[in-house]
Amino acid sequence: MDAEVTIFDKIVAGQIKANIVYQDDLCLAFHDVNPQAPVHILLIPKQRNGLSQLSKAQEHNKEILGHLLFTVTKIVELVDELKNGFRIVINDGENGGQSVWHLHIHIIGGEQLTWPPG
Ligand code: C5P
Repeated sequence: MDAEVTIFDKIVAGQIKANIVYQDDLCLAFHDVNPQAPVHILLIPKQRNGLSQLSKAQEHNKEILGHLLFTVTKIVELVDELKNGFRIVINDGENGGQSVWHLHIHIIGGEQLTWPPG
């Protein structure tokens, strides 16, 4: 599934307000509106460039994928509650529980997380 415009495009464009944690030229991180833990941040590429979901990634997406993972470490430096550990999650596709078709990394923490996830 690949939507023309997603809610995250609207957040990037400033048409929908979000509680922004970090941004640079390539990516944006903001607090999830429906947090599943004391800290629940979403990190997205500003330009989707075909990355509606991780499994659609192509060669030209490699740089942004690396940038997103590296940016997680910057966000952890900014958010004290993540310093004792956290989890990143990428839901992919219907069985993966994906609901917004614009690649996003969930950064979850601020409490003792359990394993396995649901
Ligand atoms: O992985 P999945 O696609 O299900 O995650 C989408 C996430 O986007 C959800 O956690 C949802 O709460 C979040 N969301 C948001 N702000 C919106 C719409 C959805 O934080 N305006």
